[in-house]
Amino acid sequence: MKIHEYQGRDLLASYGIPVPSGRMITAASDAAAAYRDATGGNAGGLAVVKAQVHAGGRGKAGFVKLVRSEKEATEAATFMLSNRMKSPQTPPEGLAVSKLLVASGADIADRAGGGKEEFYLAITLDRATRRNVLIASREGGVEIEQIAHDRPDAIKKERLHPTLGLSPSAARKIAFELGMKGKQINQAADIMVKLAKLYVEKDCSLAEINPLVITPKSEKFPDGQVLAIDAKFNFDDNGLVRHPELTSMADNSEENPSELKAQEFGLSYVALDGNIGCLVNGAGLAMSTMDIIKLHGGEPANFLDVGGSASEEAVTEAFGIILSDSRVKGILVNIFGGIMRCDVIAQGIINAASKYKNADGSIGFKVPLVVRLEGTNVEAGRKLLNEARGKIPTMQAANDLGDAAKKVCAAVGA
Ligand code: GDP
Ligand code: MN
Repeated sequence: MKIHEYQGRDLLASYGIPVPSGRMITAASDAAAAYRDATGGNAGGLAVVKAQVHAGGRGKAGFVKLVRSEKEATEAATFMLSNRMKSPQTPPEGLAVSKLLVASGADIADRAGGGKEEFYLAITLDRATRRNVLIASREGGVEIEQIAHDRPDAIKKERLHPTLGLSPSAARKIAFELGMKGKQINQAADIMVKLAKLYVEKDCSLAEINPLVITPKSEKFPDGQVLAIDAKFNFDDNGLVRHPELTSMADNSEENPSELKAQEFGLSYVALDGNIGCLVNGAGLAMSTMDIIKLHGGEPANFLDVGGSASEEAVTEAFGIILSDSRVKGILVNIFGGIMRCDVIAQGIINAASKYKNADGSIGFKVPLVVRLEGTNVEAGRKLLNEARGKIPTMQAANDLGDAAKKVCAAVGA
């Protein structure tokens, strides 16, 4: 699960990480008041208007704007709410923006030698070493993907101890290596330690601050203040049961509607790029089904895992979800019945097919369907399908997994 930046900033602040204050708005008519709040009524003060969407690259796309008046704030808000944001991280048609953050703007110190004091800071899981890892770079901001690609040595990594997390001394060492000086070091180390704690306690898979900035020197902060001005979080869905405070932050308007519909019926749906819809049970069988489709030259459009035990109704619903994707040109059902019974799957298929009535009196989906069933109650399942076959001309039975993959790939012309 992902959350928006404005929610991520609240989360950072709740762990004591310094974040400029701000507020979320949904209408351009609220931008002037939000600007006044963000600048503390200081006319001409700096504020920032930022699109709240589950995708990055907003700065370069023109969906992060610095503003210095109510009028500029309103103009920026009007633009963002009436244009789709397109970035390398969005679908080609872009994303509609319905929420904005209006926050107090940070003054970012100039860096000796050019540029601004913008750093990258993140914690994520390194699967190769099976440890959480802190990733930091002096070259933060909007170019981080390019930097990681061109100059991997500019990215520092520190593996975290499985139970002790990040020690303050390791954090200070990283801050020093990032080129921080004086009082900046303890400020940055404190942020790193808090971010590591937050990451573990909230079951994150990513906690990212890009950029972490340093403000110009002031009386209160003689070496400048280290501040988080962006926040990105991904949470491990399997940990969400322990975090009602996080699940209530989910913004369903940002999620794939098919995935949401599947969740509602206890199914898991993953959208992919090809044209063969897959209905399977179990994640392992889903993987091998996709492998064998690819082996025979096909490309999966999605897979829908009906899990260990699904009702006839859920199976029927599963077909509706798969077919709602217009790219699907064929469906492969691959079920190994364990707790899930093959006759339940077969009846689900027949019920789903019965919803599609054709002019010639036959029933069934417009796209070819290949069914491979094995395991518990397989005889009963096959019997049901054999009896229905005459009425469902688009359905073929397969003898085994290889045969099924071959048939569905041939049916879609792969
Ligand atoms: P992203 O491009 O979607 O990651 O959006 P960010 O929130 O990271 O903003 C992109 C860039 O805009 C940052 O790297 C900064 O250079 C700039 N920016 C964002 N907020 C502020 C701010 O409060 N003050 C200043 N001076 N620049 C900002
Ligand atoms: Mn950013």
